[in-house]
Amino acid sequence: MTQKNKKLIAGNWKMNGLQASLKEIELIAAKVGHYADKGTFLICPPATLLPGAKALAGDDLNIGAQDCHSEKNGAYTGDISAEMIAEIGGSFVIVGHSERREGHHESNEAVKAKAEAALGQGLKPIVCCGETLQQREKGEAIGFVTQQIADSTPDSLSKDGEIAIAYEPIWAIGTGKTASVDDVAEMHVALRKTLVDKYGERGNTVEILYGGSVKPENANALLHTQDVDGALVGGASLKADSFLGIVAAL
Ligand code: PGA
Repeated sequence: MTQKNKKLIAGNWKMNGLQASLKEIELIAAKVGHYADKGTFLICPPATLLPGAKALAGDDLNIGAQDCHSEKNGAYTGDISAEMIAEIGGSFVIVGHSERREGHHESNEAVKAKAEAALGQGLKPIVCCGETLQQREKGEAIGFVTQQIADSTPDSLSKDGEIAIAYEPIWAIGTGKTASVDDVAEMHVALRKTLVDKYGERGNTVEILYGGSVKPENANALLHTQDVDGALVGGASLKADSFLGIVAAL
């Protein structure tokens, strides 16, 4: 078991938030500094809010995007590049979220190319993985998810903690259901082994986040589970109160 000094608490706003929602960023930014010795904090709003969020985030809150293209620029209508995210002061990008793997048919290979593009611009990618309920019921979850991560992450890392990964069982996203602490621990230990097999000792420096219906009421148990180095939070990150309730569980 590896124990990180700081956990990463990341909010994924998905396709939610208009300019008025920036006040939540302001409220979060004003408070997370109190927990700076225990965590690193990140909000990933929709692309339209990235510059506004960055302007309000201050020194204690990181801002990131929810996806990037693997190419630097070009004829890719609707996409944004890693360089564009870096230019506005973004420091992270989520890649391979299950909603993009499903809705935009992103393969492991495509996700890996995005993660590599992010590294090329000095962004930290959070590479997502997770099984369906059917795969879990058939006993295929560990095999499927570890293979997903082996195939979706960059070939090599040039420094410690250059990427993070997030285990998000698809059946736990937005459903109010969370995986049991035992199932989370079992998966995170398997993912740690996958990372160490791929990167050697450096694999121990990759944060493994848990995501799927994380909220203030369950954050304490999840964040203190073996090999859980933080959380990727959807619904509960939209309001400062609930995001800060999760941060307070650190
Ligand atoms: P949720 O979403 O917290 O609303 O379940 C998590 C995610 O999809 O990142």
